[in-house]
Amino acid sequence: MTVYNFSAGPAVLPAPVLLKAQSELLNYENSGQSVLEMSHRSPIFESIRDAAEQSLRRLMSIPDTYSVLFIQGGATLQFSMLPQNLATRTGRIDFIDTGDWSTKAIADAKQYATVQVLASSANDGYRFIPDGPFTSSSDYLHITWNNTLEGTTYQTPPKVDVPLVADVSSSILSEPIPIEAFDVLYAGAQKNLGVAGLTVVIIKNDLLDRVPDTIGAYLRYDIHAKQRSLYNTPPTFSLYMTKLVLEWIEETGLETITARNASQAQLLYEAIDQSTVFHNHVAVKDRSRMNLPFSTGSETEDATFLAFAERHNLINLAGHRSIGGMRASLYNAMPTEGVEALIHIMHRFEQGER
Ligand SMILES: *Cc1c(COP(=O)(O)O)cnc(C)c1O
Repeated sequence: MTVYNFSAGPAVLPAPVLLKAQSELLNYENSGQSVLEMSHRSPIFESIRDAAEQSLRRLMSIPDTYSVLFIQGGATLQFSMLPQNLATRTGRIDFIDTGDWSTKAIADAKQYATVQVLASSANDGYRFIPDGPFTSSSDYLHITWNNTLEGTTYQTPPKVDVPLVADVSSSILSEPIPIEAFDVLYAGAQKNLGVAGLTVVIIKNDLLDRVPDTIGAYLRYDIHAKQRSLYNTPPTFSLYMTKLVLEWIEETGLETITARNASQAQLLYEAIDQSTVFHNHVAVKDRSRMNLPFSTGSETEDATFLAFAERHNLINLAGHRSIGGMRASLYNAMPTEGVEALIHIMHRFEQGER
């Protein structure tokens, strides 16, 4: 029995990655130790850390002018680390508000800085991404690249004359991104990069000069950069899982993954758009290829569909509790058979099966 997991995160992992983790669990590369038991100061663990960083640098073409940090606290901790580290020149931060995660980032930033929202699609139910260009004279502009709940995504970075910071938690390595357009990119690992517990922060080195010495050591990007993410104990097993996921992306090829993601999303959007039962209300130009929300327009019908899908082994399709309806998250590890199975079940539901 094959179960397809459409969870928004923690989410489906590539089967070869899980099998590799299982095969190495008791004895990592003949060291006689499990990764779970290893000192983070040992050369063998450092080789895991370094392999993850090098793989990420290759896949995203990250130049030496950026540091790659592996820290804890999820993307959520970044909502307060960013202002504390970087809003130290003007004390002002600008945001584009594109949904629930932007709203949370804005709320945390307000604790530390003066916040201005340059544009928001809130009044339109976050159905689109506001267009730039934007003018800003603040310490940085923050955007949420892929909006996990609302199912929207930027296609290109907005043009702006201050450092650009982007939350890429739900889209990192789903497609190439022009790294040099950004000054900071950050992502929790549990969507496209591995398992919960690890957050990747990619930061331009010249921003590290802004970090004040009046905040706690763990909160400081400059300390994590200088200590190569080994200032304290990193989430060792999560980092190892991310190393395996990155190796899998390199073996598969980012181009192959990008094309597969695009064709899977196209298949499902076509099915939704042709359907007389299901709808997606996002502006077509801004539709996400990772998180696809849809609904019948009736809460009871949505619940009936979710139960029907689950009986056919299509799980975790419920939309976020604040939005309702359905949401299919099609992260890198989702096989195309899963999307085809979902479309098949949607057709059967449309024909009246329950
Ligand atoms: C999941 C998610 C977050 C929150 O991540 P945590 O790791 O739970 O803190 C933030 N932003 C986006 C875009 C997300 O998808």
